[in-house]
Amino acid sequence: MEEKTLRIALAGNPNSGKTTLFNVLTGSNQFVGNWPGVTVEKKEGHLKGHKGVVVLDLPGIYSLSPYSPEEVIARGYLADERPDVILNVVDGTNIERNLYLTTQLQDLGIPLVVAINLMDAVERHGDSIDTEKLAKLLGCPVVCVSALKSTGIDEAVTTALLAAEQKKYMPRHIFSGLLEHTLAHIEEYALHDYPEEIQRYYAIKLFERDAPMREKLALPPERLAHIEEDITKAEAELDDSSEGAVISERYAFVERVVGACCKRTSGKRVSATDRIDSILTNRFLALPIFAALMFLVYYISVTTLGAFLTGWMRDTLFGAWLLPGARRILEGWHFASAAVSMLVDGALSGVASVLGFVPQLCVLFILLAFLEACGYMSRIAFMLDKLFRRFGLSGKSFIPILVGTGCGVPGILASRTIENESDRRMTIITTTFIPCGAKLPIIALIAGALFGGAWWVAPSAYFIGIAAILLSGIALKKTKAFSGQAAPFVMELPPYRLPTIINLLRSVWERVWSFIKKAGTVILLASLIIWLLSNLGFAGGRFTFVPVSKSLLARFGALLAVLFRPLGWGAWEPVVAALAGIVAKESIVSTLSVLTGGSGPFTPLSGFSFLLFNLLCVPCVAAIAAIRREMRSAKWTAFAIVYQCALAYAVALCVYQFGIWIAGDAFTLGTAAALLVAGFMLFMVVRKVGAR
Ligand code: GDP
Ligand code: MG
Repeated sequence: MEEKTLRIALAGNPNSGKTTLFNVLTGSNQFVGNWPGVTVEKKEGHLKGHKGVVVLDLPGIYSLSPYSPEEVIARGYLADERPDVILNVVDGTNIERNLYLTTQLQDLGIPLVVAINLMDAVERHGDSIDTEKLAKLLGCPVVCVSALKSTGIDEAVTTALLAAEQKKYMPRHIFSGLLEHTLAHIEEYALHDYPEEIQRYYAIKLFERDAPMREKLALPPERLAHIEEDITKAEAELDDSSEGAVISERYAFVERVVGACCKRTSGKRVSATDRIDSILTNRFLALPIFAALMFLVYYISVTTLGAFLTGWMRDTLFGAWLLPGARRILEGWHFASAAVSMLVDGALSGVASVLGFVPQLCVLFILLAFLEACGYMSRIAFMLDKLFRRFGLSGKSFIPILVGTGCGVPGILASRTIENESDRRMTIITTTFIPCGAKLPIIALIAGALFGGAWWVAPSAYFIGIAAILLSGIALKKTKAFSGQAAPFVMELPPYRLPTIINLLRSVWERVWSFIKKAGTVILLASLIIWLLSNLGFAGGRFTFVPVSKSLLARFGALLAVLFRPLGWGAWEPVVAALAGIVAKESIVSTLSVLTGGSGPFTPLSGFSFLLFNLLCVPCVAAIAAIRREMRSAKWTAFAIVYQCALAYAVALCVYQFGIWIAGDAFTLGTAAALLVAGFMLFMVVRKVGAR
């Protein structure tokens, strides 16, 4: 007889302790994977001591709106897969924020049990929560647990299983009369063919004009128009947008519930967050503080601490020990000199040149992960929304950019949360301007080798990335293809919290490990190929080993190099390196290392121009493939590539040409071209467009 499995889904805000509780519930019995199509982690496991019960750790969310990949995934799972019971994990030290989500989970028509977590901390603060009253007001069981101290777990499990088996406690959050009336109308008019328990959730989402829901239900236009009429009528009476009214009623309810059930003697945690916020998100200070912090992040990781460690790895570990050691061993085995050179000067030194940057990458990722985990980055997204919106851009565009500091691919995928198609395209095109982990080596190389570690070079890469995104956005928005209103961006801010070291290290390790793996595979192969192509060529009618300057690669590179002469680096080596960068951005550095044994034939100015070009031009193949998938259009993919390359070329041209001009060179054709290009870009950004 086949046994039916019961599914318990853990849902709750980020940092409410879901994963900790999940680990307690499942022990070591877990399988970790990814949600289809995105890099958000999916964790499932068997409930300890209950064979037929599966527990699922959903991504942390603040609401069931489609504002982040996590929210899209969680609500998709809850509404479509419908677990047997939702165990809503609530951070007891922060009930107000957490119960907002609870009111939304109530709409789903799935048995719900609320687990107030972090009870140890609540008690330590001397606070108390009247769970009986809370359960009555919410209409579902409330249990108190501490995932950290493993208290209350048994009761939580029993209550959840009971709710699932008996299919009870499907509470609903009741809105005001007018709203309920409109919802009932929508249900009756458009949704009565759907299962009863899901109608309410659909109705609320339709009422909120939730775009993915409209798409999913695909109602005939006349029905949609009819619903729209209802909504507009309700809005006129409520004097609020439908979504706004739903949100504020939920908050009013939560406020009432918390007032009735929670006694706070401390109130410390909230006010600490508020105090920090009054400075960090202050109207005038927020952006300067953000700039200063990001400056420090790049300065510390690339220029100071990281550079020191990287220098040791490059010069001592690889330069003095491993590479010469490998050469001696291979020579000891009587390898042919060409083979030794291929393995050591090609493959190994290519890989080593990239691996040398691992310390800088570790420091960068630790600092970024810290800013993210402690809750600062969500504030920045929120602050930048205001700035972006002033230019008609959506702050949501900043979320993919945050994600993109690790790797551009998840950054591009994260653009899915932007409903507006043209905003989404724009974000996909510009996300990779933010330097990803793979671009760090080239930034660090130029900053270190050509500028002697000058303080401003590495941070400037980040800020130029942001400027490119902002200015591109402004300019593109003024064209017909991208025009339109930016959607508002509602976001819940989590409280500040010190992240645990283990969580930080885990997230850093994931990113660094994929960097190392890439060095051992793609970069190794690319370095070998580059070495071969730069040592083989035609001589005396035969294909054979030739001096590097006569190699296939040198000849091919020289053909293209003309194009890049106006940018200051029209030699074949950098051109080949930039091309190799399309395979993976790390291979810019490994190629320069294989071809020139160092950092390439640059002056500081031409090196900076090279850096800017590689920062902004088309990303690596993996990212291009992601762009293609997300755009679902060859035409738009082509546009993205052309735009990125053109912008990169234009910026590098202007920087180099103005640079040599200011340094005292004569006014040449190049200067004139740069002036024209700069003028055109400026015009595209500042021009006024008429009403559309
Ligand atoms: P998630 O984001 O919801 O998966 O939350 P995590 O499980 O990663 O926990 C977030 C933080 O809260 C971690 O630092 C945990 O150690 C901490 N935490 C989780 N449960 C408890 C608890 O019951 N008591 C206390 N004091 N801390 C907890
Ligand atoms: Mg978690």
